[in-house]
Amino acid sequence: MNDGHVTIPEPRNEPVREYRPGTTERTSLERRLGSMATETAELPMVIGGKAVTSGETFERRAPHRLELELARAHGARAEDVERAIQAASTASGEWARTPWKDRAEIFLKAADLIAGPYRDTINAATILGQSKSVHQAEIEAACELADFLRFNAHYAERIYADQPLSVPGVRNRTDYRPLEGFVLAITPFNFTAIAANLPTAPAMMGNVALWKPSEKQVLAAHYTMEALVEAGLPDGVINLLHGDGALVSDVAMTHEDFAGLHFTGSLPVLEHLWKKTGENLGRYRSFPRIVGETGGKDFVIAHPSAGVESLVVALGRGAFEYQGQKCSAASRAYIPRSLWPAVEDGVRAMVDEITVGDVGGDLSTFMGAVIDDAAFRKHREAIARARREGLEVVAGGGTDESEGWFVEPTVLRTEDPQSDTMVRELFGPILTVFVYEDARWEETLDLVDSTSPYGLTGAVFARDRGAIREATDRLRQAAGNFYVNDKPTGAIVGQQPFGGARRSGTNDKAGSVMNMLRWVSPRAIKEVSVPAEDWRYPHMGA
Ligand code: NAD
Repeated sequence: MNDGHVTIPEPRNEPVREYRPGTTERTSLERRLGSMATETAELPMVIGGKAVTSGETFERRAPHRLELELARAHGARAEDVERAIQAASTASGEWARTPWKDRAEIFLKAADLIAGPYRDTINAATILGQSKSVHQAEIEAACELADFLRFNAHYAERIYADQPLSVPGVRNRTDYRPLEGFVLAITPFNFTAIAANLPTAPAMMGNVALWKPSEKQVLAAHYTMEALVEAGLPDGVINLLHGDGALVSDVAMTHEDFAGLHFTGSLPVLEHLWKKTGENLGRYRSFPRIVGETGGKDFVIAHPSAGVESLVVALGRGAFEYQGQKCSAASRAYIPRSLWPAVEDGVRAMVDEITVGDVGGDLSTFMGAVIDDAAFRKHREAIARARREGLEVVAGGGTDESEGWFVEPTVLRTEDPQSDTMVRELFGPILTVFVYEDARWEETLDLVDSTSPYGLTGAVFARDRGAIREATDRLRQAAGNFYVNDKPTGAIVGQQPFGGARRSGTNDKAGSVMNMLRWVSPRAIKEVSVPAEDWRYPHMGA
């Protein structure tokens, strides 16, 4: 036994691989993509460390190659959720007593597995199952996930080290207890890293969790769980339940041990779950923590002093990477009239060159398909409505469902800054531009601020320092992540803690000390060396 003071190594962001043609890293990933594409994986749930099948399966196909049935997952029944709650409860005592450094070691090992032997598998599952390009998979499924695990261990150490003042004869300390009960993590389809972070962040702080990943992200979630188990995660600490979110939450959120919700997904679902918590408040042992991050209607505003080339790159990457299916994706842009002709030319030329297709079969592809038929139909209808309402289709606008759910990168131009695609979160590769008169810069800032109920990300492009200062000030509440001369996507753990305010969520900043603090219930302990033996105070003397 070594009782020495051990510190978690200072975290570093996982270096991003480039997968250039002809490299061994590319060949190795292609091999894994090939093997994954030849099988239909059977995905059980994991409850109390055991693989559980329900027989009630649902399929997952590659969105860009619909003939490819990648997986059949076993969906949870009510009794599976109850078993998972029981398994979590059984694991909770031992896990809460496990020295935190031992807990951290498990997640640090998981990070090394994901960055190492699991890297190809996690990336391949994300490319095929969620239709990401190789770069989009690499930056998040491998790198951001490893970053979450490593940085969160570091933040946990900072939390535990934060102790109160002690005075002569009195020693004070804070006991950072896990919550009493379980945390329910309900996770979105679009980021493998976020999906993994939602159950692991609370677990690192000594909590037990139920994890219900999106039905559209089951393949990568399955391999993530496999890596956590291989890293030594004890049975029952995280219980993986597939299938219907409403069914799982109906059972979990009416249980007295429901202690916290860690959610990322759409606004209506968070509203629904928050109301459900309110309705059941009397049943719970404690007031559940709710950490919920939802959507965005993210903006780019350019000042007349902006550099056109960098603006065009930000619009293309910000709006079309991962088919615009990022909560942070640029979907409305405000461009001054003086710059529009050059921006329009640049955007058209870029969209002409963007490749859309089989991201798993050809790693040079920039964009894959949108996630499912419902998303495809929503985008097709939004573009059709925009045409009917007289918006100009500057670039793209086409769709193709013959082999997958393909939507072209689309740029619309509107005369009405309140038109449908300027205000509604579409979550697809559709960017709408409003061209404003140069003299109306200040009014346009107010327009940006007031157009959407969300407040997630936004960007200003300008060379004029005064304009940057003005936009930063006027748009203070409009975005939880604000970018100057960069696209509004691509936040990096440890560098730009991520989350938005207003209707975008509780803004607890995933991958930060702020988020980790939500998963503890501190106990203040005061210990006295020489306790008082006289009840009287000095002022009572004669
Ligand atoms: P979604 O809301 O459709 O699904 C999210 C999860 O909720 C899934 O696991 C789903 O099964 C579950 N769910 C759905 N209905 C439910 C119900 N009635 N009860 C309980 N659970 C239910 O979202 P999605 O399509 O997976 O993800 C896209 C959304 O997520 C977008 O709105 C996007 O902006 C948002 N998002 C936000 C962030 C952020 O950090 N702010 C990050 C990623 C995605």
